[in-house]
Amino acid sequence: MRRQILFPVVASGVLMFASVAVFAQQTITAKPEDTEEWKPVPRIVAPGSTDGAPPSDAIVLFDGANLNQWVSAKDKSPAKWVAGDVLTVNKAAGNIETRRAFRDYQLHIEWRIPRNISGSGQERGNSGIFLASTGPGDAGYELQVLDSYHNTTYVNGQAGSIYKQSAPLVNPARKPGEWQSYDVVWTAPRFDASGTLKSPAFVTVFMNGVLVQNHFQLKGQTLYIGKPFYKQYDRAPIKLQAHGDASQPISFRNIWVRELP
Ligand code: MG
Repeated sequence: MRRQILFPVVASGVLMFASVAVFAQQTITAKPEDTEEWKPVPRIVAPGSTDGAPPSDAIVLFDGANLNQWVSAKDKSPAKWVAGDVLTVNKAAGNIETRRAFRDYQLHIEWRIPRNISGSGQERGNSGIFLASTGPGDAGYELQVLDSYHNTTYVNGQAGSIYKQSAPLVNPARKPGEWQSYDVVWTAPRFDASGTLKSPAFVTVFMNGVLVQNHFQLKGQTLYIGKPFYKQYDRAPIKLQAHGDASQPISFRNIWVRELP
């Protein structure tokens, strides 16, 4: 009996000795170079200034020159919003979207609620940036634009929210009449060949330089009514909303995007 009890104790002692010896040997032979990675070398990109100027590899979507990068969302005809130094919503013309389609990207966009804005709640400077405009009849994925400077509404519908899914972490809204910015990192959802969701969409958003969405996992498209769901797509344009509220139309400027590999 005694021998049977002793045997495993001796065996585990030998094992422990062996693993200590292996660990000691690894410590002696490991070199700092073992954990250095030298390839691939990150591509050099000249940074923009901190005022939101586009970096060297950005696709400029609007810089005041023209509306060439934009089309009407409903029929892909040339966009008919008011373009001068700034781009102003033309509510009668409807939503506009980029000519190009994107998968994963970094986006910078600036927007301004008119100083004389009227209305309240969702009817006060409502617009939106649809991070993927997946087709007619689809809700898409909306980052809300609204006057949220002392304007009460449901929190998952205020500025900086992922509409009806995620309230902003904080409210860094500026006064009407002042320019505001969004910096967005969008990771598109992935689907298999049969259209089944493989991985959901994620979004990170800085509003006026302040983090408001931290790698938020979307539940699907951002619906006005009902539970969100996903629908298969690959690449999609970015869309700007011409909301039907009665308040004065908002403006955009300095819009650029960097595609992510
Ligand atoms: Mg909206």
